[in-house]
Amino acid sequence: MKTIALESYGIKNAKINYQLSPEDLHRITIEKGQGVQASSGALAVNTGEFTGRSPKDRFIVKDAITEDKIWWGNINIPFSPENFDKLYNKVTAYLSGKEIFVRDCYACADQNYKTNIRVINEYPWSNMFAYNMFLRPTAEELESFEAEWTVVNAPGFKANAEADGTRQHNFAILNFSKKIALIGGTGYTGEIKKGIFSALNFILPVEKNTLPMHCSANVGAAGDTAIFFGLSGTGKTTLSTDPNRSLIGDDEHGWTNENTVFNFEGGCYAKVINLSKDQEPEIYDAIKPGAILENVILDDKGVVDFADTSITQNTRVSYPIHHIENIKVPSVGKNPKNIFFLTADAFGVIPPISKLTPSQAAYHFISGYTAKVAGTEAGVKEPQPSFSACFGAPFMPLHPAKYAEMLSNKMIEAGVNVWLINTGWTGGPYGVGKRMELKYTRAMINAVLNGDLGLYDYDHYHIHSVFGVAQPRTCPGVPTSVLSPRQTWNDDEAYYTMAFKLTNAFRENFKKFEAHCTEEIRRGGPQRYAF
Ligand code: ATP
Ligand code: MN
Repeated sequence: MKTIALESYGIKNAKINYQLSPEDLHRITIEKGQGVQASSGALAVNTGEFTGRSPKDRFIVKDAITEDKIWWGNINIPFSPENFDKLYNKVTAYLSGKEIFVRDCYACADQNYKTNIRVINEYPWSNMFAYNMFLRPTAEELESFEAEWTVVNAPGFKANAEADGTRQHNFAILNFSKKIALIGGTGYTGEIKKGIFSALNFILPVEKNTLPMHCSANVGAAGDTAIFFGLSGTGKTTLSTDPNRSLIGDDEHGWTNENTVFNFEGGCYAKVINLSKDQEPEIYDAIKPGAILENVILDDKGVVDFADTSITQNTRVSYPIHHIENIKVPSVGKNPKNIFFLTADAFGVIPPISKLTPSQAAYHFISGYTAKVAGTEAGVKEPQPSFSACFGAPFMPLHPAKYAEMLSNKMIEAGVNVWLINTGWTGGPYGVGKRMELKYTRAMINAVLNGDLGLYDYDHYHIHSVFGVAQPRTCPGVPTSVLSPRQTWNDDEAYYTMAFKLTNAFRENFKKFEAHCTEEIRRGGPQRYAF
């Protein structure tokens, strides 16, 4: 077995566990008391203080490479090279002398884009997460492996904000010159995968003319690719995991100029809140030995209560993609035929399915709308609109217009259809109505993919008076009343009042992009606003 040294990283006298199998990492995690085995055979861990990403603590080193290219602001927060070097030295000194876990893996399933990564973890389960989520090199590839990017992940290290130039004790910092993602003070595993995602979101468009996308993707028997954009919780993982279509990936993809779509990752990271075998059998069955459950509550027999959100609403499971039966190998498909924009509209006013014109598609891509629900917060009754450009602003280092322009060009070239799907509320806003039934959302998506919605004409579609989008009049497997949000409300005035509230929020949000957008794109917005 190959051995490696870490002195060149500044990590000295560490006990290095290199490239351990997931079985070993599972066992070691339990031996160290850092996890337990669930009745399904999966490993269950708690990620600690952080059970989600911390966008306010995500920095990018501002230097010659990034200075003129990054869209700096409160999403891409600058960090000085000097502070980075100091903090890096502190972290590697912290890891020195410790038992650590190292894994060589890669991102990008298309061989032309393969990006080798070395992940250095303080904890065994974080290293097992890297095994699950990144692509796994063959024994032969490993022999000559040279890492391009390095992830240094020290959840137990706490920064001193004042001395180190961070906001607080946790941080995730990207350094494009040194090709390092430095993560400390947080054990949330999602930081590892989204760190590399953010790096690729800069590298691929700038260096390789490839569009990186926060989307899931699958492919039908005829080779027709579908992609699903959407913010967290809108259904990318749920809806791309479809027994009748081969999964390409559930979160991060690139669209190349060679007319292909490829997965960056080698695994999935599914939300498990209220997961049921009945509703999502493929994901449920993926939770077996090799999978890692995060922040779930188990009983004394190791049975998970998926309804228990006492640690967090963001309970998760990671698993290698081959835990899903129907997958595309390798994780590469052709140009998409259909693009779905998923939104969980808690105002309950966006139609459950509608077709977008090219300008509407560009407008909605730049807006990136979904809603945040009050959840467990007492006293908050109103849903909050949440806009995140490109359906993934926290991971997009460049100006959103850059990605939007690339997407627009590709969509026109490929002649794709774009659909807006509301997986959120129906029959009223959050608190009054209810979440759209998964079986209906699936039926709508299947209807699109099977070509069952009929011609794009007046007989089959009508234009929504507020949003301007084209709604199908009927859809197999979906009660017609469900297709019209206004009808599900049973109160036209309340419906329109709420719809205008949302369109005003759209208008307000779009102001900062107006200067960068053509009249054509501006016309893609809602048609009516409140005064
Ligand atoms: P992330 O970017 O954080 O991974 P995601 O877009 O992949 O988020 P999912 O993991 O698919 O989001 O989460 C969607 C959640 O919403 C799941 O828990 C799913 O069961 C639930 N859900 C309820 N109704 C629907 C619906 N109609 N369509 C899609 N998902 C639904
Ligand atoms: Mn997902």
